[in-house]
Amino acid sequence: MGIDKNKKIVGVDLGGTTFTVGIMDFNGNILSSVDTDTPVENGPSAVMGKILDNIDLAINEAKLSREDILGVGLGAPGILDVERGINIFSPNLKWHNVDMVTPIKDYLNVPVFIENDVRVAALGERRFGAGKGRKYMIFIALGTGIGSGIIINGELFRGSIGGGGEIGHMVIDSNGPKCNCGNYGCFESLAAGPSMVARAEKAIKSGLETKVFELAERNIGNITPAIIYQAAKLGDKVALDVFRETSFYLGLGLVTLTTVFNPECIIIGGGIAKSWDILMPPAIQMVKTRSFPGSRDVVEIIPSQLGDSAGMIGACVLAIEKLEKEEEL
Ligand SMILES: [Zn+2]
Repeated sequence: MGIDKNKKIVGVDLGGTTFTVGIMDFNGNILSSVDTDTPVENGPSAVMGKILDNIDLAINEAKLSREDILGVGLGAPGILDVERGINIFSPNLKWHNVDMVTPIKDYLNVPVFIENDVRVAALGERRFGAGKGRKYMIFIALGTGIGSGIIINGELFRGSIGGGGEIGHMVIDSNGPKCNCGNYGCFESLAAGPSMVARAEKAIKSGLETKVFELAERNIGNITPAIIYQAAKLGDKVALDVFRETSFYLGLGLVTLTTVFNPECIIIGGGIAKSWDILMPPAIQMVKTRSFPGSRDVVEIIPSQLGDSAGMIGACVLAIEKLEKEEEL
């Protein structure tokens, strides 16, 4: 039984604040894409209901019908039981044990696959983005936290119970700040967006003059990594110091990953990667001088090519690759 590659795939990138439903063909062309808010406060069944509505919208927008759909891939935050299709626990969605597969399967009558959102983005980059043809690669999402999708010998690495690749919780500094996970000095507590904001806040509270405060309309609560970047581009010393410190810790994490995994490339995506020109050169320099010899010479550290669409495209790729694998068996 061959799979019909003229049919299309639905990809869902589910986030805690917004979600995207897209339709893609087997060549990576996006035929339609629908973005909306995630009605998290209304509970899981409301979210799943809105996903179904938006699948129909995306199908209509692409001028297709439900019969044209071959499968659905879904990327979601949290700890997932991918075999049973259950989201076991997601702090972002405030979900416990939510069946994400059955409602979609019952609605469209096609196979539905789920995987962690950053892992699917890695699959997307590998097939259609910056990681084309790579067998050993790490995709890193730098944002509010730090997540990864690690591909080893062409396969997505999941760990024994699906907990592998939680690079945001590598301890980088044993005396570092407390992390959301309860530990101290985790990679994401030192190099993700909130750590940048915390550094800027600290400088302002110590009385330093900075354009960050002006750009945030003199309200500390308005500070974002994007505002710090804007100030850094204007040459603001506090903002540049925030970046210097963040790059340092980011570099340390990348040094460890390069030494442990010896990847061909590390692809960096997520909101903070948009400040590449200031954030990344010092971190890359650290990798090239402090990672293990050999590994540091081959590793390429490159930006995501799929950008904000990586999750949705990756969700489609998840479904494509699962369907292709089933066909081989
Ligand atoms: Zn942690």
